[in-house]
Amino acid sequence: MVSTVPGAGELQPPDSLPQQRRLVTEIPGPRSRMLGARRSATVARAIPATIPAFIDRAGGGVVVDVDGNSLIDMGSGIAVTNVGNASPAVVAAVTEQVGRFTHTAFGVAPYEGYVAVCEALAAITPGNHEKRSLLLNSGAEAVENAVKIARVHTGRPAVVVVEHAFHGRTNLAMAMTAKATPYKRGFGPFAPEIYRVPTSYPFRDGLSGSAAAARATALIDSLVGAELTAAIVIEPIQGEGGFIVPAPGFLAGLADYAAQHGIVFIADEIQTGFARTGDWFAIEHESVTPDLVITAKGIAGGLPLSAVTGRAEIVDSVPPGGLGGTYSGNPLACAAALAVIEQIEKEDLRQRAIELGGIMSERLHALAGQFSEIGEVRGRGAMMAIELSHEGAPDAAFTSRVAAQCHARGVLVLTAGTDGNVLRFLPPLVMPDHLLQEAMDVLGESLAAAR
Ligand SMILES: *Cc1c(COP(=O)(O)O)cnc(C)c1O
Repeated sequence: MVSTVPGAGELQPPDSLPQQRRLVTEIPGPRSRMLGARRSATVARAIPATIPAFIDRAGGGVVVDVDGNSLIDMGSGIAVTNVGNASPAVVAAVTEQVGRFTHTAFGVAPYEGYVAVCEALAAITPGNHEKRSLLLNSGAEAVENAVKIARVHTGRPAVVVVEHAFHGRTNLAMAMTAKATPYKRGFGPFAPEIYRVPTSYPFRDGLSGSAAAARATALIDSLVGAELTAAIVIEPIQGEGGFIVPAPGFLAGLADYAAQHGIVFIADEIQTGFARTGDWFAIEHESVTPDLVITAKGIAGGLPLSAVTGRAEIVDSVPPGGLGGTYSGNPLACAAALAVIEQIEKEDLRQRAIELGGIMSERLHALAGQFSEIGEVRGRGAMMAIELSHEGAPDAAFTSRVAAQCHARGVLVLTAGTDGNVLRFLPPLVMPDHLLQEAMDVLGESLAAAR
């Protein structure tokens, strides 16, 4: 049985959606509750559900549910719709492509869009060296491919990751991910030859970047052996782990160690990429040039696409036929990615990320002065978070209550953190100032109400 959403009649182009928070029912409203009941009867309960409202339309800085409630979007579908939901440029590019062809398999019958995306990635990723890219479907799939490449290039087995890391949900990516529940528990056995070392977490460890890097590399020497290490894989700012910004010099320290020992240094920029932090990629801020960069999420405005981009001599160490996938680099996703990259340039969304970050930083620091539960305000650009604790201990229960209060008031926020005590803010970069200010007002009310 296929049925349409009741009431989803008059369609407006998403860019003309009123940029406002407006509640016309409680959340979830009656139509969302009906869909929720259908969901429970048919969708696996393991699939997460951040908000109970079902979405009908979205654009700019809002998502509108099937009951007509307009929510401020502080999640961007987990840092995906950086250019805004249903961005008119993306819609136009995909619409044009869908009428020409939807799929040929690039490995069977190639097309220009794939090549153009690889050219664009070569231009915007750090470093002026010769680069090669391959396109894939999901972040986890790109992580797996980056590891495959590093192993072939080095002829070594070991992969080093850090505490609080999130790299995805497939078997290898899951082994690389730190948090057991819900990502790993019961899903073993895990892929071998993954080694975890401490990261730099200034709020908790108080270490300088160079001290944290020395601690990590000493452990690589003693636990693994540099000569057996194929790759160090790291998020320049940790996403699911809680928007942990390493102390300055930590990433450079790891990258220098990798370069000295012929280890492939891989930046997982899946959550941090595509203007989110004010640069194309977060690692640019640290003046580090990774050997490989992994991208996904923000790359294609919501169409499934990911990529591995890096030094030609490393990527091309894998012989023909060794990498690929039926849908990888789908032509609709490529058209979307090209539109996204052009929109980021044209609308100067890197600068906009810095502006949005400035507003959030000011408001969040003010809230930290009012609410002792806020232990730290951190992040970069339009990727900001607060870590919440009670008497020095992580307070996940309070964090969920604040998130639920925000949702009930029409602001979609996401939680994060190994201890579940981080609220993270990822507005679309096209969000108008007044909506962001209103979201921060609502956060203040929600913090008070959750006490
Ligand atoms: C989301 C994410 C992944 C996994 O991407 P999927 O598309 O969900 O497979 C990997 N690494 C980071 C840093 C992420 O944020």
